[in-house]
Amino acid sequence: MPSGRPAKALVIGAGIGGLTCAVALKRVDVDVEVYERATELREAGAALAVMSNAVTALAALDIDLGLDERGRAVESFTIADRRGRRIRDLPFGEVCDRVGARSFCLSRADLQQALLSQLADCPLHMGATADGFETDDEGVTVRFRDGRSARGDVLIGADGFNSAVRRHLVGPEKARDSGYHFQLGIVPFRHPALPPGGVRQYWGDGQRFALIDLGHGRCYWWANMSNQAPAPDRVKEALEKTYGNWADEVRGAIEATPQEDILIVPSHDRPHLEQWGDGPITLLGDAAHPMLTTLAQGAGMAIEDAVVLAGALSESATDGDPVSALRAYERRRRDRTRTMVTESRLTDKFQQAAGPLRTSLRDIRFRLTPRRVLAQQLTRQLTFPHGPQAAPYAEPRLDSLELR
Ligand SMILES: Cc1cc2nc3c(=O)[nH]c(=O)nc-3n(C[C@H](O)[C@H](O)[C@H](O)COP(=O)(O)OP(=O)(O)OC[C@H]3O[C@@H](n4cnc5c(N)ncnc54)[C@H](O)[C@@H]3O)c2cc1C
Repeated sequence: MPSGRPAKALVIGAGIGGLTCAVALKRVDVDVEVYERATELREAGAALAVMSNAVTALAALDIDLGLDERGRAVESFTIADRRGRRIRDLPFGEVCDRVGARSFCLSRADLQQALLSQLADCPLHMGATADGFETDDEGVTVRFRDGRSARGDVLIGADGFNSAVRRHLVGPEKARDSGYHFQLGIVPFRHPALPPGGVRQYWGDGQRFALIDLGHGRCYWWANMSNQAPAPDRVKEALEKTYGNWADEVRGAIEATPQEDILIVPSHDRPHLEQWGDGPITLLGDAAHPMLTTLAQGAGMAIEDAVVLAGALSESATDGDPVSALRAYERRRRDRTRTMVTESRLTDKFQQAAGPLRTSLRDIRFRLTPRRVLAQQLTRQLTFPHGPQAAPYAEPRLDSLELR
């Protein structure tokens, strides 16, 4: 590519990762087009947390998604037992103050709207399922199932967990199952146990439940039940049975949610890929480093990726070498994302403890963990490592999370 000409980027997938990537690339004047398999954009998965690190990353490119008005800033984070008795408060507010950014919970629909509102004139092609990729010295051509094709200097696979771009790069892979499915809902619901801006997790025996204030009188909840996912027309009955003797607010949130509004989604990840690009092709978000949801950082990592990739491509504008920029992006993201994949899995194993002995050990150990250690872990997670205020990157001691 001649130096001086802005790179043309093709983004495959219009999930949180692909949309953020397009917004970030527009900010640095990269010419970008997005191709999405779905014929219309639907939100999936109810709601999510956009953690402080992702908020800091967006701010680095001056992207304001209005998360405060669209959702609710997290004010408190409590872990309780299944009856609602407090096990521990996390030093969440203190850590947000320390890293200089709040964390927000909002519906996926609201986040999607916020991203779309920032896309400006970026072309978004719907009904475009990418299934063929050819590279040459000048760039990359992508072919779509309906016969269309597109040509760019670089291609970014932001096509999620079952990424076709990833399959093209590394071949077929097996997913790692977590042993449970999620059930999710958003419902107008208030309860004195859930304060404004509150996040409450309830830890049981091989099961967990969470209640999260989304603001505007709405609450997001998730439950995980081991083994087989219940049939959609039996899910409420299964939840009522499983959580029938849990805290009043847990039963209340399930009760208040119509069965047809309850989503069932799988929980899985993949081993971390050490190299996720080749020539003019790279990956971003779940396509690159799918992780379990325990740390609520999958979308956060996709957002961080997008901002770092935009930085790398913008640096390459003068030398006209966007392919080297992709390798620089992958190098910058490797340690951070590897840590998140590993830490999410270890934390999941710890929190998901089953059996009376392991459950009691988990609760005692979590109660006795020094506040300083919890604050350090959270600070590392909630710090955007490529931002101006980030401390030098240090690998965490992952053994501190394991339940032996
Ligand atoms: C229960 C649950 C709770 C979660 N909570 C949080 C949280 O609180 N905070 C957080 O940060 N993360 C959370 N996550 C993780 C987060 O949802 C994901 O990491 C994030 O959505 C990944 O975004 P993505 O854009 O990479 O992939 P996706 O959202 O999967 O988007 C991929 C897009 O690519 C499209 N696509 C797929 N194949 C093709 C193709 N061949 N051609 C064209 N388009 C294609 C798809 O239709 C889709 O639109 C949670 C996940 C789950 C399951």
